[in-house]
Amino acid sequence: ADIQDELAHSAHSKMGSSSLLSAVARRLEGKVAVITGGASGIGECTAKLFCKHGAKVLIADIQDELAHSVCKFLGPTSASFVHCDVTDESDVRNAVDTAITKYGKLDIMFNNAGIVETSNTVNIVDFDKAEFEKVIGVNLTGSILGTKHAARVMVPARCGSIIITASVASIMGGTSPHAYTCSKHALVGLTRNTAVDLGRFGIRVNCVSPYVVPTPLSKGFLGVDKDDAIDVYSNLKGAVLEPEDIAEAALYLGSNDSKYVSGHNLVVDGGFTIVNPAFS
Ligand code: NAD
Repeated sequence: ADIQDELAHSAHSKMGSSSLLSAVARRLEGKVAVITGGASGIGECTAKLFCKHGAKVLIADIQDELAHSVCKFLGPTSASFVHCDVTDESDVRNAVDTAITKYGKLDIMFNNAGIVETSNTVNIVDFDKAEFEKVIGVNLTGSILGTKHAARVMVPARCGSIIITASVASIMGGTSPHAYTCSKHALVGLTRNTAVDLGRFGIRVNCVSPYVVPTPLSKGFLGVDKDDAIDVYSNLKGAVLEPEDIAEAALYLGSNDSKYVSGHNLVVDGGFTIVNPAFS
């Protein structure tokens, strides 16, 4: 009741109830975000949620047509697109510079683009070096480049939030093929190292680790749709994560609500990683 009274009082005395509520509800008002892999799945959903919360979003992806349709949905004042292959440093540099040119600053860098091996196997005898390097290139090197170029503009500004999409494969073995698992484990190391490096400049670095979320990536990897394999997609008691659940975690890490959270791996898995199979 106290906080309600305080809100009502300040709403009347300062800004009027509707503007206060919108200020409370819009957690990224005035912020600028770059989202790699923002044309599809978790990135697309996060772009929509960030815009809903008042951010300007630059989608950086290789799927131009899909990205353009997401931007069209969000409207030209909220979102725009730059073609960016995260494995190409000049593309990543250009994405960050485009955000600065268009919107004047960069508050949130969401290093989210990712791929997985086409073969769903943990059999080391089937290890394919070329495929390993491809997955590491996008998932790990892409996130390092995104973090580097975000830091380039965030350090002089003395603030910023860098978020990386890892996976439950960042803390578990056996859920995914080797390159994917290695890349996601390494992203936790990247998060911790850069959180230490950039903390003195007021920049936070965190990662978010989802369990299976129905997206084109998981469908391609698992070879089945959510509706055909509800047991594979379910975490506890039949609950299935949605891209929105990960977008909400990114919103928390991108907003000032998490101002003292850095170097953290936020696992969003419905309890999957802590369950002893004997009790499930
Ligand atoms: P998705 O395939 O829907 O989206 C991935 C996006 O990344 C696509 O838009 C794709 O075009 C883009 N992309 C791929 N290679 C790129 C490159 N070289 N440069 C720029 N963009 C590139 O998949 P998603 O499930 O939304 O995956 C997003 C992230 O979430 C990935 O890092 C993935 O590893 C991670 N993740 C997904 C799941 C899941 O179950 N879906 C679980 C854990 C972690």
